[in-house]
Formats: sequence, structure tokens, C-alpha cells
Amino acid sequence: MSGIVTKLDSVITQLADLADNPAFPYRTAVIWLSSLQTAWELYVDRRQVPKFSIPFPPPELKDHLKKDTFKKAQSYGRDKLNYSIAHTVYSFAVGLAFVYFGVFASTWDSVARFMARVGIASSRTIVHSLLWMSYLTILPAIPGLAWSYYYNFVLEQKHGFNKSTVKLFITDTLKTWLLTAVIGLPVLAGFLKIIDIAGKNFVAWLMLFLYVELQPLFNKFTPVPEGDLRNRVVALATKLKFPLTHLYVIDGSKRSSHSNAYFYGLPWSKRIVIYDTLIKESTPAEVEAVLAHELGHWYLSHPTRLILIAQGHLLFTLFIFSIFIHNKALFEAFGFDPRLAVSSPTGGSQPVVIGFILYQLLFEPLDTVVKFFMNSKTRQYEYEADAFAVRLGFRKELGDALIKLHVNNLSAPHSDKLYSAYHRSHPTLPERLRAMDEYTGASWLKLSPKAKKQEIEEQHKKED
Ligand SMILES: [Zn+2]
Repeated sequence: MSGIVTKLDSVITQLADLADNPAFPYRTAVIWLSSLQTAWELYVDRRQVPKFSIPFPPPELKDHLKKDTFKKAQSYGRDKLNYSIAHTVYSFAVGLAFVYFGVFASTWDSVARFMARVGIASSRTIVHSLLWMSYLTILPAIPGLAWSYYYNFVLEQKHGFNKSTVKLFITDTLKTWLLTAVIGLPVLAGFLKIIDIAGKNFVAWLMLFLYVELQPLFNKFTPVPEGDLRNRVVALATKLKFPLTHLYVIDGSKRSSHSNAYFYGLPWSKRIVIYDTLIKESTPAEVEAVLAHELGHWYLSHPTRLILIAQGHLLFTLFIFSIFIHNKALFEAFGFDPRLAVSSPTGGSQPVVIGFILYQLLFEPLDTVVKFFMNSKTRQYEYEADAFAVRLGFRKELGDALIKLHVNNLSAPHSDKLYSAYHRSHPTLPERLRAMDEYTGASWLKLSPKAKKQEIEEQHKKED
């Protein structure tokens, strides 16, 4: 084990030396990368624009979507997309200005002057870091208020979704800021302290810290009463050998954006939780179909796979981070004193937080690729869980349940393929209904990914 660590250490050191090259134009690279990222996002969004001008609903929904509802969904979607395009351009311009005018280094220096004025020792690196991060957060948050005001009181208002008042909006915003400060600052301080103490071995310590930090929070549940629904779910779980120990219903008022039912627990003892809104809106058979989909996720080990992917991504990120954290060339390119990359010229510990921010600037555009990949994974898992439910004989009930749940929330009826693949973690309703019909009856799950793709492509050819 220690052999691996030493080896990894020397690899990191070599790569870090290679990357610390004053000739490499880090600032230009950041400008190019974020320009490319923005161009890509705008291209994808542009592709979706004409979908909101299609005058009729997709064939899968035409019997379920009222003409009026369809029109509303199109106009709501168009407005939201235009807003998002404008916001992308704005964020890009602000980011560019920050890089171009050296805002990162100049704010770091102004915090230092502020500390001197109020009598905080310049060696208190963590205080300096927290003040700087607060400054960098608050600066763009003020014009950000205008954007969210427009979103809530103009856009959402127009489509009848805004239930807030200006007074509520202000108090909510202040509360969110306060909460972010109360939670965010101590977490950041802990994070910086850990790197300080652990030094080079910070990766392992950080993983432990993140794990403790992200322990799930618990909600309050009530058991599902005896009756048809309970019997159905228990029978389904028994049939699939799902280790069901508790069956709960949860209050819908607290519900997250698109959760209808889920399960959690240890490998040998699991709980199923159903939202009361799902029970209210659906027949017991339809709830059973939704659970067949959820249990499909369990049967096919989707949660475990996603956790492994997320852990892998986190480790990879930390690995790259440890290569760039002490990069003098990177610090200098953004107007910082290069000595800050390895020590603190004013005494105290080295300000890791600068390396963290600069690293983020450099690698944030790479998240575009990660996002694409993660969404393609979760989308694939959705299709597989649907296929699982279909194979258990729930094609009709699952379709009906999904239509009921989705039709009235005005989600976009038509989606561009690339737009949907890039932005959505779940396939759209028409995409899911179409796919469900494609693998009805077939032992679809057993096919290789390539064979699945071929089958779908052939199906599409037939449709055209
Ligand atoms: Zn699912």
C-alpha cells in the first residue's frame, strides 16, 4: 500500500513540475476554454429554439395533452430557453471580465489591505481566504439579484407559476445568503484546515471529510396502510426478492422536483418511500408500475454504479487538483505573487484557496464533458428501468402513470435530441414512451449496448 502511495506521490510531483511552466499561457487557455464551452452551450440551446414553434404535440402525447396546455407549455419553454441563453452570454461576459481585469488577484490584495486596516494579522491565512471567498461570492451575487427578480416576477409571473411577493423574495434571498454563510464558511474553513494539517496526504483526509459531511439527512415517514396498494407492493418486492422491511408514504409538500417514489437502506434491509401525491393521482396498479421501475434500478445495481462513478470522478478531480495546487506559473498568469503558490510571504500557512479557485477556472469547462457523460449514464439507467418494468408487464400502467405525473407540469413537449442528451438527466416523456414501445415483449435487457442501439436505430428508420 505504501509503495503505491510513494509511486503516486512521485507521479504527482513529476506532473506538477511539468505543468509549472512559465511559458505556458494559462490565462489565454482559460479564455479559450471558457469561450469554447460557451459556444457549445449556445449551439445546443439554439438547436432547441425551433422546437417551441412546432404547432402540434408529439404523437405520443396528442391524446393526453389539451390544446391549451400544449400551447402554454410551448410558450413557457420558449421564454425559459431565451432567458437561459441571455444568462449564458451574461455569465460568460462577467467571467471574461474577471479574468481580463485580474479581479482575482486585485480582490485578494484589497482583502489584505482591509485586514491591515482593521488589525487582523496578515499571517491569518484562513481568515484571509474566507474573506476573499465571501468577496468573490457577493460581488456577482448583487447583479444576480436582478436576474432572479426578472425570472420570478416577470417570467414565472407571466405563466402563472410565481406565488412569491417582492417582500418574500427579499427575505428569502437574505435567508439563503445567511444560510450559505453559516454553513459554507465553516465547511470551507474545515476544508482548508485539513489541507493545512494533512499536507500532501490531503486527498485521503478530504475524502473522509466529504463522506462525513454528506451523510444523508433523515425525513419523517408514515407507514402505508393495509390494503390493495400495500399488498401489491409487498407481492412485487417478494417476487423480485427485494429485501423490503418498511413501506412508507411521505408528505408531498416537501417533495423534490421529480421524485415520485424511491428506496434506500442497507443491502439486506430496505425501505420503500412513496410520495402521497403519487398515491393521490394514480391507481394502485399505476403506483405498482412506478415501483417496478424503481425496483428495476435496484435489480440492475444502478445506485451502486452511480456512487462508484461519482467516487471515481471525485478522486480524479482531487488528483488533478494536487498537480496544480502549487503551480507558480498558474498563480503568476493571474496576477498573483508566484511565491503564494508554495508559501505565504507574510508568514502563516500557504493560501491553498487561491490554487483551488485557479484550478476551477482552468478545469470548469471540462465539466461540460463530465456532465454529458453523467447524463448519458442516468438516461441509460432510466431506459433500462423502464424496460425492466415493461418486461414485468407494466407497459400500460407505467405509461399512464408517467403521463399523469408529467403532462400538467408544462415540461417541453418537443426536445432536440442533442439538447435533451446534454441537459437532461432523465429522458423526456415522449422519449420514454417511444422507447417503452420499442422493447415491449423483447428480452431487451439481455442485449449488448451495441445491439440495443442497432435495434433502436432500426425502429427509428421504420418510423420515418
Ligand atoms: Zn428512474
